[in-house]
Amino acid sequence: MHRCFPIAIGTGPSQFHPAAPDTVAFMPLDVAQVCAQLIRFDTTNRGGGDSAGEREAAEHVAALLQDNGVPPMLLEPAPRRTNVLARVPGTDPSLPALLVQSHLDVVPADPAEWSFDPFAGEIRDGYVHGRGAVDMKDMAAMTLAVINRWHTEGRRPRRDIVLAFVADEEDQGAYGAHWLVEHHAAYFAGVQAAISESGAFSYDVDGVRLYPIGTAERGTSHMKLTATGRAGHGSRRNDQNAVTALATTLARIAAHQHPVRLTPTVEAFLVGAGKALGVEVDLDDVDATLARLGPAAKLAENTVRCSTTPTMLQAGYKVNVIPGTATAQLDVRTLPGTVDELVATIDALLPPGVTREFLEHQPPVEAPVDTPWFTAMADALRDEDPAAAVVPYCLGGGTDAKAFSRLGIHCYGFSPLRLPVDFDYRAMAHGVDERVPVAGLEFGVRVLDRFLSS
Ligand SMILES: [Zn+2]
Repeated sequence: MHRCFPIAIGTGPSQFHPAAPDTVAFMPLDVAQVCAQLIRFDTTNRGGGDSAGEREAAEHVAALLQDNGVPPMLLEPAPRRTNVLARVPGTDPSLPALLVQSHLDVVPADPAEWSFDPFAGEIRDGYVHGRGAVDMKDMAAMTLAVINRWHTEGRRPRRDIVLAFVADEEDQGAYGAHWLVEHHAAYFAGVQAAISESGAFSYDVDGVRLYPIGTAERGTSHMKLTATGRAGHGSRRNDQNAVTALATTLARIAAHQHPVRLTPTVEAFLVGAGKALGVEVDLDDVDATLARLGPAAKLAENTVRCSTTPTMLQAGYKVNVIPGTATAQLDVRTLPGTVDELVATIDALLPPGVTREFLEHQPPVEAPVDTPWFTAMADALRDEDPAAAVVPYCLGGGTDAKAFSRLGIHCYGFSPLRLPVDFDYRAMAHGVDERVPVAGLEFGVRVLDRFLSS
């Protein structure tokens, strides 16, 4: 199925165009088929504006929304970089609205490394195969399947549900979430909370099924260090060698052990996971607690501290010439509430002659755990899996939550999937041979329906 809708290109609110009001007879949607079809649209995002574009995938999503009684709007800030917005009106306008957002782009996949075609969208052996199967065309498909259920059964949610299928999450969001927040904030008026990727997947530890819901994300900063010295001949003594100064500084930064900083989310994770697994939790000795948590520690080990990881180096152009400058870049991840402290720490580690600047600085985000939203998500999971041990957790990396939280929206990682015990979910996103179990998707549709209807 493929139909064209008016594409709005521009930046002003006047560029909103509702889709053409053509409707077709109701067709029941199979979530695995929808996920597979979305995978077949190659929406590879190589970053820096080099992208296959999301347009065909967005038009397909818009067509499915239209068919299910939800008029979509398409917005293109740049050619082929297409976003879809829609609003399902609730029965009780006094309730705060909820945003459900998915990105339609995917990271590249090299077919030579895969055992199947990453963009064929094959369904076999109980799995949907292809790039985007877990990141995150699965969530887009589950959302559409819920909309389809409501349409079929003549149901409506209690609150307004705002839907966003966005471009460019796998780069900077400049054509997607951040652009929408900067140019179309009014569309999200009344939205109090949002759900999206990276949370509510089952994670088996010794027979206990944890379901971590994302309630925080570390901040993402790219920091450039510049060492400035005295250029000169490589054969001569030089106590102001920029390369030496930079190398010494990087060694000092790499060796620095950042202190444990327990955020509310990570503390709640440690307490909740410890209780579920019967493990003693000592918040004064977090490293020992992580060791006792075994495989569950993977959900918290990168989020008890900030990190400053050297990743790029540049200096010199000839072996017998000492360059006047040398530069490096650090991948800096900050925990909620720690940005100022971390910057002061880095400054204290820099010797005279080495300066720093932010090339990119996205602050951390944290949503409250003790809210009716979190309780409703946990209830929806337990209703479908009575053994679910639901815990909040903090993402080590970042998502479009960083954009939508700028509007004061509480952003949660809630993309429910029940997974087989031996399924290595964490190796799937951005990995080789990405796939998602069909039964997991069907579980996710039931959980999402419960939560979005509540
Ligand atoms: Zn993603």
